[in-house]
Amino acid sequence: MIGAIGLFALALVALLYALPFGLRLLAERRLARRCAAERLLVLSFDDGPGPTLTPKLLALLEAEDARATFFPLGQRALAHPDVLTEAVRRGHEIGCHSQRHGHSFRIGPIRAFRDAREGLETLRPWLGARPLFRPPFGKLDLATWLQLTRRGVRLGWWTLDSGDTAGADDPEPIVQMVLDAGGAVVLLHDFDGRPERSDYVLAVTERLLVAARQHGLRVVPLGAVA
Ligand SMILES: [Zn+2]
Repeated sequence: MIGAIGLFALALVALLYALPFGLRLLAERRLARRCAAERLLVLSFDDGPGPTLTPKLLALLEAEDARATFFPLGQRALAHPDVLTEAVRRGHEIGCHSQRHGHSFRIGPIRAFRDAREGLETLRPWLGARPLFRPPFGKLDLATWLQLTRRGVRLGWWTLDSGDTAGADDPEPIVQMVLDAGGAVVLLHDFDGRPERSDYVLAVTERLLVAARQHGLRVVPLGAVA
């Protein structure tokens, strides 16, 4: 039998974690609808900057005159600040993906908010006035959500995972999914990892940019739709 304390704990957990999950689903649905209605493609890159991969992506984007959104980690930005400065110089948008990529559900609300706040502080030189925050692993507790919102931070969700961290190697299914949906916010990662993964990220990015041009999708940074 669950006693009063158990019920209270359950309610607290639901409020802290289940409510933000529901809000996230609603936000993603809204994003997907907007992308489809206006035929928009957003390319978003997390966990960078990668000193090798990110400059290659910048060159690809430049070749198609497209702007993307990068969600670097504070600790990687400190290691490779020039890469981020170059991204900004080329007109790309920088959001925040926390300082150390802490998983909110595992480390708890207090440490999760500290991780987010540190990331925002580290990345401040590259962020806009109302910065976007993309929660590590897409996990966000209600307390951190409220604290961020209170500081004017917007949440930067996505609608389609490219599968680049799950071993995907063929860009065509992702391109087809974007075209079928009439637009999307695509999640990719620009940290330097295994060469096969980097090759896949570059291939998906290039194929999506070409498909967008051929099928009349407008490539915009996430801030334009979030
Ligand atoms: Zn991440």
